[in-house]
Amino acid sequence: MPPPVFRFAPSPNGYLHLGHAYSALLNADLARAGGGRLLLRIEDIDTTRCRPDYEAAIYQDLAWLGIAWEPEVRRQSDHLDLYRDAVAQLTARGLVYPAFESRAEIARLVAARDAVAPWRRDPDGAPLYPGSGKTLSAAERAKLIASGTPYALRLDMDAARALVGELSWSERGEGPAGETGTVAARPDAWGDVVIARKETPTSYHLSVVIDDALQGVTEVVRGADLFWATSVHRLLQVLLDLPTPVYRHHRLLRDAEGRKLSKSSAATGLRELRAAGVSPQQIRSMVGLAPAG
Ligand code: GLU
Repeated sequence: MPPPVFRFAPSPNGYLHLGHAYSALLNADLARAGGGRLLLRIEDIDTTRCRPDYEAAIYQDLAWLGIAWEPEVRRQSDHLDLYRDAVAQLTARGLVYPAFESRAEIARLVAARDAVAPWRRDPDGAPLYPGSGKTLSAAERAKLIASGTPYALRLDMDAARALVGELSWSERGEGPAGETGTVAARPDAWGDVVIARKETPTSYHLSVVIDDALQGVTEVVRGADLFWATSVHRLLQVLLDLPTPVYRHHRLLRDAEGRKLSKSSAATGLRELRAAGVSPQQIRSMVGLAPAG
């Protein structure tokens, strides 16, 4: 049996905090215990928020924690052509369509729908796409594109679902309501998700499935906030003929008020804790992991 392959995949849009430390250390512990490999991926497709100094700080913080990853770090911004190819495949099969509405227009449409009856929200609480991209005529689309109106590409969820049928994944951790074992995927709960954003030729969902496959990742260990995103990942894996890893979603660390940790809070930032004299061993105990053996 080839060794299991784990990955830690932070976004360099802020400094790492205790929640990232927990996720990275858990990946490293599981890789070590299972005789596996640990890879690092920098998820930097959001060029407006990602910064090289945050990326440098990620390497520093992980090294300080005592985490060793394989030297070839994969940076998503180096692979945009690959994502473009996948988008082209989905487009050729009629599974995506351009959506031209601005954020403000989408907010207005949602408010108008909500005024009639509560408009559906996705598992993250964001409203489903309320726009008319899917039903525009070819001529209307061509006109908007020719006029330079920016657009995102969205997955036609109904068409995609009709192609693939029921999906599930193997969960070794736990979902928000204790889901574990074989979990039925519910991609339609997300509506017509964005596959390529207006400003970048990909999206989180698309890049993550392509990279997990290309890096040969067999175990995805990440926070429970991404549990239901796995539904979309399973769908894209089938549409793009990619293998599926097993998943282990872990508990999220909370601050004293019970809120999810944020990249801007100094109280839980790894750099701040290090500067205050906290040791990597103390970080392990703060996040609830046993001392390193
Ligand atoms: N880049 C994502 C984040 O920092 C993690 C993605 C994943 O593990 O699938 O939240």
